[in-house]
Amino acid sequence: MVEGFDVRTLAIINLVLGIVLGVGLFIFAKSHPSFSGFRRIGTGYLLLALGFVLMGFRNYISDWYSIVTANAIIFSGVSAVGVGLLRFYGRPHKLFLIFSAFLLVCLVPIFFYFTFVQNDINQRIIVISSFFSIQCLYLAAELWRYPANIRRGFTRFLSISFAIYGVVFAFRSLWTMEEANIINFMNAGPIHGVSLIIFQILIVTTGYVASWSACLKLENEITIQATIDPLTQTYNRRALDEMASKEVSRSRRLGLPVSVILTDIDLFKQVNDQHGHQVGDTVLVSFARRLKHNLREHDILARFGGEEFLVLLPDTDAPTALKIAEKLRVLVSQKTMTADDEAFDLEITASFGVSASFGKDIDWKALVSKADHALYQAKANGRNKVKGKFDYIQLVAWNDI
Ligand code: GH3
Ligand code: MG
Ligand code: MG
Repeated sequence: MVEGFDVRTLAIINLVLGIVLGVGLFIFAKSHPSFSGFRRIGTGYLLLALGFVLMGFRNYISDWYSIVTANAIIFSGVSAVGVGLLRFYGRPHKLFLIFSAFLLVCLVPIFFYFTFVQNDINQRIIVISSFFSIQCLYLAAELWRYPANIRRGFTRFLSISFAIYGVVFAFRSLWTMEEANIINFMNAGPIHGVSLIIFQILIVTTGYVASWSACLKLENEITIQATIDPLTQTYNRRALDEMASKEVSRSRRLGLPVSVILTDIDLFKQVNDQHGHQVGDTVLVSFARRLKHNLREHDILARFGGEEFLVLLPDTDAPTALKIAEKLRVLVSQKTMTADDEAFDLEITASFGVSASFGKDIDWKALVSKADHALYQAKANGRNKVKGKFDYIQLVAWNDI
């Protein structure tokens, strides 16, 4: 017979990993309370550690603790890790919890029977391996269904890992059905050692994948906070400056036109005065949404000031920019403003200033200042107007193209 792994040594490694990563995740969860699920995963690791301590004391303490209790605790540990991961990734976890609790309730009497009534190691291995297999395959399926977003790579990786664990446990279960009666579990065949090593892989991979995706989530939140205006969900000035500098150098290099539309809501102060600041905010959100929905994907919309927005239009010449501004002006003056799915009647209009430049002539500051000048003219000419300020030479050049 092939020599197996030493179960006691493997159990000690599982114990150490469970404690180190479990305590680590607990500390992490304390400093990042917004990450739901981390505490649960940490609890799972500590339960696994406790279960393996009890298992390691086989033949030194009563079988009730080293067999029945140890396996029930290890099973609960995997359940807790599973619930924690599902919570962390926002997947439904209640059904998994109920399902795991049900399996646990079945596990204890079955283990009691095959330990104290009819001592049968093979039957115990078949039962616990089948239960682990079902649990792992359930988790694999649930994590696989995670929607496509930035963290999907992690959930797919975890899903595949759990599917592999599920298959190994199922294989172990089938193998044990064919195997001769195992006399000493502490030195059983290689497949049993491999299944203990699976717990080590499970602890390490779930631990680092969860922490890694937590970092990514934090990084993502910080980037959003630094670049997006929280009220209107458009880019802020800082993001605009960065994107504009990239866009300008690209257009200068490739000899392409760039246009800017600066727009400002007309008599917005009156909206605030008559309807209150909150309605004012809702109108702003609605205004920004209306602009955004009517621009192309690569156009950049930024909140330039209070109720003033800037649109950067790459690869767009002056006549096109004027047409776009006119289209936006008409759209904005449509009666019903909607925000947060609430529709209310409020007539607002906005004024638009347009500027454009071409290739090597592009100077971002000058472009913005011309659009601002044009906007001022639109206001001075009675509002709800589109005005442009262009260099005559550039217009001639574009018409020649
Ligand atoms: P004009 O047509 O000349 O642009 O008139 P206006 O009333 O829009 O211009 P003014 O600059 O006098 O007023 C702008 C107002 O926008 C004043 C300010 O209270 C309001 N405002 C700026 N930011 C916000 C905001 O985030 N929420 C709300 N509700 N109001 C804002
Ligand atoms: Mg205004
Ligand atoms: Mg203003």
